[in-house]
This record gives sequence, C-alpha cells and structure tokens, in this order.
Amino acid sequence: MIPVTTLKDRKVALFGLGGSGLATARALVSGGAEVTAWDDNPDSVAKASAEGIRTEDLHTIDWSAQALFVLSPGVPLTHPKPHWTVDLARAAGVDIVGDVELFVRERRARAPDCPFIAITGTNGKSTTTALIAHILKSSGYDTQLGGNIGTAVLTLDPPKAERYYVVECSSYQIDLAPTLDPSAGILLNLTPDHLDRHGTMQHYADVKERLVAGSDTAIVGIDDSHSALIADRVERAGVKVVRISRRNVVASGIYAEGTRLIQVAGGAMLPFADLDGIQTLRGSHNAQNAAAAVAACLAVGVSADDIRAGLASFPGLKHRMQPVGQRGRVVFVNDSKATNADAAAPALSSYDRIYWIAGGLPKSGGITTLAPYFPRIAKAYLIGEAAAEFAATLGEAVPYEISGTLERAVVHAAADAERDGAASAVMLSPACASFDQYKNFEVRGEAFVGHVAALDGIAMLIGSATGEK
Ligand code: ADP
Repeated sequence: MIPVTTLKDRKVALFGLGGSGLATARALVSGGAEVTAWDDNPDSVAKASAEGIRTEDLHTIDWSAQALFVLSPGVPLTHPKPHWTVDLARAAGVDIVGDVELFVRERRARAPDCPFIAITGTNGKSTTTALIAHILKSSGYDTQLGGNIGTAVLTLDPPKAERYYVVECSSYQIDLAPTLDPSAGILLNLTPDHLDRHGTMQHYADVKERLVAGSDTAIVGIDDSHSALIADRVERAGVKVVRISRRNVVASGIYAEGTRLIQVAGGAMLPFADLDGIQTLRGSHNAQNAAAAVAACLAVGVSADDIRAGLASFPGLKHRMQPVGQRGRVVFVNDSKATNADAAAPALSSYDRIYWIAGGLPKSGGITTLAPYFPRIAKAYLIGEAAAEFAATLGEAVPYEISGTLERAVVHAAADAERDGAASAVMLSPACASFDQYKNFEVRGEAFVGHVAALDGIAMLIGSATGEK
C-alpha cells in the first residue's frame, strides 16, 4: 500500500467505496488523513465502517472544512450530470481528485525522479500497459503495474528511486488527476467511445490530451486526426514528442511497416524489431501497441536488447487474442473478451485461416459488419442464443454448424482444423456477451481453455497462471 502522507492531519471527504475507493480510503487513513467516506450502497458503507474507516452521509458534513474531495472514477464528474457530491464540493470550493492524483502527489513528495509511465487511449491500453510492465520486469527492474488495468494504484508499493510505475489511466481517472505528470505518457489512439460520460468527442479528446501534455516525454499514436493534432499542440507547448504510427512513416518516432518496427531519430531510419512470429502481438493494432511500448521503455532508459527480448517473450493478456494451445499447425486462440462485432474484428483480421467459434448473447447489429473477414473463415461454430441469427448472416458465404455448446464447438473445430492440415487458428472470438451460458467473459474464456486442454495431443502454451491480467 502507498500511505497518502501528503494529506496528513487534513480533513478529506471521499465518495465511492468500491474496490479502488476502499483501497484509497485505507491509504489516506494510513497516511494520517482524517477521512469521512460515503457510498450510495449501504453494504459498502458497512464494510468500510467495519474496518474502522469513518463513514458519514456527505450531505451532512462541513464541506468548508475539507482540504480535498476524493471521488471514485466510476462516479460521474461531469456527464450525464455531476453526482450530488460533486455539486456540494464545488459549491464549497473544494478540489475534486481521484486515486491517481493522490499517487502522483505522493510520488512527487517521495521520489519525484522514479520512472512513471502512464498509458491511455480508446483501445489497446491494457495490452500496452501489460507489455511495458512485462518488458521492465523481464529486464530486472522493480516494476509496479496498476491503475485501470485492475490493481488500484494506491495498493502498489510506495514510490522510491529505481522503482518503475506502469499505470493504465481511463479518461475518468485523467479527469480526476489535474497534476498528472508521468515521465513518459502514452496516448495510443482516439475514437468515439464513452461519450455518455464525456459529452462530446472534443471533451473526451481534451481529457486524454492532459495525460500527454503533462509528460516529460509524450508518446502519441498519430493515425487518427484527433491524436495527430494533439501531438502537434503538445509539441508546440515544448513537450518532447515521440510519434507512433501503424501505417505511415513518421518524422521522428517509431512506425510499423507490416510486422517491422522502424525507429526514426535524427533523420535516420533504423529497423528496431520484427514482431513476425510473436503470437501475442499479431495484427497491426498490436504493432501500434508494441511501438508505443518500445518508445516508453526507451524513454525510461531500457536497453534496446532488453526491449527486444521482452517483446518476444510477452505472454499476452488473458482472453484477448491469447494463444493458449498448439496442435500441429493449429493454434488455439482465446479472444473471449470480444463481446461485440467491433471487438472481434482485430482478431479475425489477424489470422488468415480461421475455425471461428462465435455466439452467445447477441448484441444489436450482430455480425454484419464482420463480412469483410468472412473469406478468412474456413468454418464457423455457432453457440448460444445468437446461433440462428449468426447463421442467417453467414448464409452461403461461410460454412457453419450450430454447435450449441462451447465444448462441442471446440471439439468439432479442432477435428476439422486437423483434417484440413493447413496452418490455421481455432479461435473463440464470440462477438457476443456471455451471459446466456456463462457468468462473464472471463469464465467463458477459462471454459474454452479447459476444453482445449482436454484435446488429445495438445501442447498448452500457458501455465495455470494464464497471462498477466
Ligand atoms: P483497452 O484496455 O483499451 O480496452 P485492450 O488492450 O484490453 O484495450 O484490448 C481490447 C481489444 O481492443 C483487443 O482485443 C483488440 O480487439 C482491440 N485493440 C487492442 N489494441 C488496439 C489498438 N491499438 N487499436 C485498436 N484496437 C485495439
């Protein structure tokens, strides 16, 4: 845990006692702050009280006495409308922050020079965050991985020199971190998403921009127009900018040419690494993630050889295009996280010959947008409630069977792929929610792994700890 010492003996109000909120309350208390915490959920309040955290309805506290208001990132700050606590804090002139802000203040107070890499973007955050942490860890650095990826940042070990932090930041967390100042900040890409929480694309982009604007080195993916403008603006403001592209040559930075990452510095172009053959980094979206990870690791002083070795040994993230097993020329891929058609597209574009397991609880629009990938699908194995609808969309274009269950789909797909003899992937990329047959996409992914592991002659590519998340 990182005790928050910067608010010692000060009064702090806190709202939101879920996982990260409770961790934040503990870190504040342990650093000596006088915390008053609350939540709309009585169970969360009771749990906090039971471990000695002072709880009180924030309608009734003296807001003018509070040094700071700490809000959980899940609670609306602006859109669709500010939470009632936000209104009360603002009326009293109390600053509103989240746990990432408490972390950056603590880092400045204790070890301002310890390397801190922050990652944001619409897509690829977790992959890039996990990849950077993996490169650092496997190079022997003391590495702390947290933030939006799942481990609340204040539960990490306290900042000290030579300790490296890799922190995934959602827009909500950036919105609540006004002095965010990473040594290296990554903005991967920007596409419309979560606009329910940010109102407009412009506001969403402005929030994301703050992460790189405050960085010593700003690493920006410039393949979308919003991010490209941000790179220019941040550079004009005097920040060192490293540009990333998965398509085009960059003036200075790193770009991908197919699977090759090319570093451009001082007018020279140098091949840096080749991702060919790295199963966990297939696809041009992963080339973008890898290029950003390389840039960040170089920015904090990791050697090129260590970075190359880390790329090659990246185990991937669970349930995201995760290669889990191999039999002959057939690789088995768990992409259970792909709960809609958009999310399944990168996986389908990353393999040339696919035995595709899809279905579950359908989302509106189904799989019609995936038609461009149908020529890559050798056969589809349809499961769950979506089976009939997906069958209708596939029509004559793709051979399919209605397998019904995931187990039958795995067994049939594995047999067909083996008979085929070509290099191919048996892939669960369901383009559906899981709730008709499973508790969540994680349980569905684990079930897939279990069925794959039960196949005769399979070589599993993962241990019992499957991946890093
Ligand atoms: P996030 O943490 O931003 O949600 P993840 O790294 O968990 O992103 O990846 C989720 C999915 O998003 C992946 O399975 C893949 O389909 C897609 N994806 C990953 N990286 C990118 C990228 N750089 N650009 C576009 N899509 C991506």
